[in-house]
Amino acid sequence: MTELERKQDRAPIPADWTYASAPESRDIVELRERYGHFVGGEWLEPKETYTTIDPASEEPLAEVGQATDAEVQLAVGAAREAYENGWSALPGSERAKYLFRIARILQERSREFAVLESLNGGKPIRESRDVDLPLAAAHFFYYAGWADKLEYAFPNRKPRPLGVAGQVIPWNFPLLMLAWKIAPALAAGNTVVLKPAETTPLTALQFCDVLRQAELPPGVVNIVTGDGRTGAAIVKGEVEKVAFTGSTEVGKAIQRELAGTGKKLTLELGGKAANVIFDDAALDQAVEGIVNGIYFNQGHVCCAGSRLLVQESVYEDVIDKLKRRLTTLRVGDPLDKNTDVGAINSRQQLEKIQELVASGEEEGASIYQPPCRLPEKGYWFVPTVFTDVAQSYRIAQEEIFGPVLSVLTFRTPDEAVEKANNTPYGLSAGVWTEKGSRILSMAQRLRAGVIWANTYNRFDPSSPFGGYKESGFGREGGLHGLEPYLDFE
Ligand code: NDP
Repeated sequence: MTELERKQDRAPIPADWTYASAPESRDIVELRERYGHFVGGEWLEPKETYTTIDPASEEPLAEVGQATDAEVQLAVGAAREAYENGWSALPGSERAKYLFRIARILQERSREFAVLESLNGGKPIRESRDVDLPLAAAHFFYYAGWADKLEYAFPNRKPRPLGVAGQVIPWNFPLLMLAWKIAPALAAGNTVVLKPAETTPLTALQFCDVLRQAELPPGVVNIVTGDGRTGAAIVKGEVEKVAFTGSTEVGKAIQRELAGTGKKLTLELGGKAANVIFDDAALDQAVEGIVNGIYFNQGHVCCAGSRLLVQESVYEDVIDKLKRRLTTLRVGDPLDKNTDVGAINSRQQLEKIQELVASGEEEGASIYQPPCRLPEKGYWFVPTVFTDVAQSYRIAQEEIFGPVLSVLTFRTPDEAVEKANNTPYGLSAGVWTEKGSRILSMAQRLRAGVIWANTYNRFDPSSPFGGYKESGFGREGGLHGLEPYLDFE
């Protein structure tokens, strides 16, 4: 018997390579039964509470507070006190030390936060581990670097902090949106009252433990939880600046509320981005970019490439490749390291997706969904592609905020630009072509705040992010992201 045959005898090669799951352990996360509001560095016992759940199993995870107007006022008061009694007068280099500490602690505890983010939000652990956590830490590192250089960043303009910033964030990137809001505010010398979304409060609450570990002075960051009423109370509160990320509808209401008050406002709202594929693009790479553009984070991404514009000459080819690729996407347990598409964030969001998908079918578009077995409990939606879509259909106009792609075609670059810009939004776009000159010309003509070329959904703390038209105003990230937190002489 040869050596090889002997080895095969002992360890026979499996005949059937069936799928084996690789779940991340939940044990690293220690949840409390009940959370209060984090005000002035202490936990405030909430007057009212609600239950936050795991959208993949509908299992309750913890009781959290529903902050009343009075509780929000306490938080704003604590932020005011911290601002006036020390934080705003602290040298930038000292503020930077706290931000660096927070960044390092987030890195050290990244596995715990990634698991918690996936548990409470439904996103695949692969994404929370490889995207949300590294980027959240990177934002704190990046703005820590600016804290003592504001005078050089804005020469001859004598920058100074505003005061208390009220910040309201959505549920699609809970910890990352928190980092986008808190890091520049603190670097600029402001204090903060932040509300995470009703469905995803847990990483923001766990973050309070990071603040204590970093020994951030009490009251510099205050976290209150609750639904839209709590958000509205923050907006109305005695704050100098409001930063909001969420739906265009609520953004408009906030803008109306703040008109004439003198409070500064930045709004990062919805999108309906065009991802434009020219016939000279590397099609296999483009298909990966399409998948990343719309199925990343279940399509719960304001800058998602939800409208695919394909040049007619490569249409059949692109759609064939895309459909084949969709059959390989794994939908299921967010904590399984193999999962590509996790759970929809809430029942309400699932119903919104279902309603818009039904409208697409009624209006006459052709639907494709790969064969897919969904878990019995929890909120799920199969990755979906619509072809034969007219520009007037709701699925081509409205933000679906789910794993649903609408495909349109074009013949010339002019037609591509016209169709891409035919939306009330203007947050992001993608261009796929081998020609650098075409990338530049498209980037100039597309009315969108962020334009990716031969890639999609790439983020960097040094790069400003924000929109035009109904996608809002103001920028987050980079130097541009500091400016809304500063006043100048
Ligand atoms: P919202 O705009 O309602 O939520 C965003 C945040 O604002 C949440 O923290 C929310 O609290 C809070 N909020 C709600 N009402 C008010 C108010 N009147 N004043 C101040 N704050 C308020 O978005 P939804 O969660 O309802 O999602 C609806 C749609 O919005 C989605 O289907 C999607 O199309 C879009 N969306 C876009 C996002 C983006 O990044 N551009 C992010 C999230 C949603 P609460 O958690 O209680 O709702």
